Amino acid sequence: MGNALKTQDLANYRRILMSLRARLCGDLDRMTDEALRRESGAGGGGGGHSTMPLHMADLGTENYDQEFTLGLIENEQLTLELIHEALERMERGKYGQCAECGTSIARPRLQAIPYARHCIRCARMLEGGE
Ligand SMILES: [Zn+2]
Repeated sequence: MGNALKTQDLANYRRILMSLRARLCGDLDRMTDEALRRESGAGGGGGGHSTMPLHMADLGTENYDQEFTLGLIENEQLTLELIHEALERMERGKYGQCAECGTSIARPRLQAIPYARHCIRCARMLEGGE
């Protein structure tokens, strides 16, 4: 079935992971900054311009609250960790293998989630089914 990843595929996923990581790092910096500023800048009566990341801009400033930002930061940190792990697995030549059962993770899944740690079956099992 040719499910094994070729060197070229690996290089491709590596590039995707690296750019994802770079983007997430940038987002995290901006969001942490924003959240901290809001925390310490109470009583100012709302700042002037906003430095929100692009993808949050359409949520509107009014219903944008700190808790939401912190949730996002947590989420992105988790994703960052998964990306780190994926890159590490790549170094060890284990990329694309399920951490649970060792089978190859299906290619469409890797394309959707390049930092996926488990095959779809194990992921469903571990997450209690989605
Ligand atoms: Zn598995």
